[in-house]
Amino acid sequence: NAQLEKFEYQAEVSRLMDLIVHSLYSNKEVFLRELVSNASDALDKLRFLSVTEPELLKEAVDLDIRIQADKDNGIITITDTGIGMTKEELVDSLGTIAHSGTAKFLKALKESQEAGSDSNLIGQFGVGFYSSFLVSDKVVVSTKSPKSDKQYVWEGEAGASSFTIREETDPDKLLPRGTRLTLYLKRDDKEFAHPEKIQKLVKNYSQFVSFPIYTWQEKGYTKEVEVDEDPAEAKEGGDDSKAEKKKKTKKVIERYWDWELTNETQPIWLRNPKDVTTEEYNDFFKKTFNEYLDPLASSHFTTEGEVEFRSILYVPAVKKDDMIDRKTKNIRLYVKRVFISDDFDGELFPRYLSFVKGVVDSNDLPLNVSREILQESRIVRIMRKRLVRKAFDMILGISLSENKDDYDKFWENYGKFLKLGCMEDQANHKRIAPLLRFFSSQSEEQLISLDEYVENMKPEQKDIYYIAADSLTSAQNAPFLERLVEKDFEVLFLVDPMDEVAIQNLKSYKEKNFVDISKEDLDLGDKNEEKEKEVKQEFSQTCEWIKKRLGEKVARVDISNRLSTSPCVLVTGKFGWSANMERLMRAQTM
Ligand code: ADP
Ligand code: MG
Repeated sequence: NAQLEKFEYQAEVSRLMDLIVHSLYSNKEVFLRELVSNASDALDKLRFLSVTEPELLKEAVDLDIRIQADKDNGIITITDTGIGMTKEELVDSLGTIAHSGTAKFLKALKESQEAGSDSNLIGQFGVGFYSSFLVSDKVVVSTKSPKSDKQYVWEGEAGASSFTIREETDPDKLLPRGTRLTLYLKRDDKEFAHPEKIQKLVKNYSQFVSFPIYTWQEKGYTKEVEVDEDPAEAKEGGDDSKAEKKKKTKKVIERYWDWELTNETQPIWLRNPKDVTTEEYNDFFKKTFNEYLDPLASSHFTTEGEVEFRSILYVPAVKKDDMIDRKTKNIRLYVKRVFISDDFDGELFPRYLSFVKGVVDSNDLPLNVSREILQESRIVRIMRKRLVRKAFDMILGISLSENKDDYDKFWENYGKFLKLGCMEDQANHKRIAPLLRFFSSQSEEQLISLDEYVENMKPEQKDIYYIAADSLTSAQNAPFLERLVEKDFEVLFLVDPMDEVAIQNLKSYKEKNFVDISKEDLDLGDKNEEKEKEVKQEFSQTCEWIKKRLGEKVARVDISNRLSTSPCVLVTGKFGWSANMERLMRAQTM
């Protein structure tokens, strides 16, 4: 009664399958990483759900992953005891593309095809389950969810536009719980079915999976067996008449097959930072967050006392997309080593630090922690504070690095995020401000820090001067600059739309106020009131005449001491928006 049902793949899946099957992608071995990571996800999910639904664990089997390779037939099986799939879940998960990873891949693929480049996108994004078709002609997925009393079998072939589902009827193939994938390898890819090859790949790709991975390995031990002495040999010894039949022992290797633990299950964040190499941190980052470049920086720390947790934070080398407003899944939260969620970063980090990635493992939170609990929790408030501080320490570390390129890269990728931080996080202004970078009238090609600015201030200079403009050229040509340049005062050029708002939020740096040189009350500390009065009187009629001519277009026409070579300039009122802000508001870019 094994009824076979046929399903068509969603169009996107067909496209993806087509691509995978015909791909010349050479790094096919990534399929194992993808499938093991699915098994690990399924185990994580089970462990997480079982906290509130203990009956999911009613089948008492260990949470693990087992991989068997049959080299004679070119078959690999990967079995996990995770959450499995119901029939509906099977149709949904392995027939459509609902998950973000693959959707992103397709988007990137389209873009790269439009750009005419054919990069290593498969390896970069990981194409999930479908990557099994990089090496397989046929894939069979047999799966048993603890929520269903039936086990179902999904079967698909490379290049086909449909797949089938039936109930598992073979009693030998019934699973207590979880999923078994059977891969029938393509003729040219049968090498992957060697046990040693599998062992090597698991060690390489799945080092940081937190469930045991066993591989089926041939083993041997030597044992001594008694053998009769070879009569021919005895004869050679000469004197055959005296030769007694002597017993002799011989060493032989007994061969057998058994499961062998192949990965290290101690999570890297539990290890002593002194024993972890940079390479291991980088590997962990790349494997955990599906990144392909080394991070710019990492920070591994433990906090004790009031709240105990361990964490490793990273700054990725490049930002993948504009992450500010997206759900980012950047922080993986564990409670007592159990993966809880990667959906809580908003609670653990302010939005503007959402580019920081990492893992956080707490012993003080309940396993059934929810967003609501996190939002209310005092422990989380303390964690958040510490995490933010550590993140800033890490960023400061990049800025102090000998390799200047690192911070340039950082700033290019994440400068906007820090400016957003100036607006959103007053409490951390002290930490953000030293990290900001600007061009200036004395440094038009290289960004400078506020510390560099302050160091370069003239003894008589009280304030930090800036001018906001829509480009470096218009900042350089602003008439307001003339007097300051004459006095050799440096002026920051705020040319990014967010710069001015950020600076206005900071208000001051090291007790020096930020002063907009385009505002009308600019005081450069060199007023000569007598002289000003004289000149004002002399030109008062000229001013009146100009005001009459311009009418409503200006509020006032005044004599000013702010220019040295230009005859006149349009300025913004003391309390009004600067010209730049007005432009911004009009363009509604904020
Ligand atoms: P992703 O892992 O990014 O969601 P995949 O293509 O790797 O995408 O997998 C698709 C979906 O199939 C998973 O989200 C999961 O629901 C399901 N799945 C795959 N492998 C397993 C497994 N071993 N156990 C349970 N569910 C699985
Ligand atoms: Mg996956």
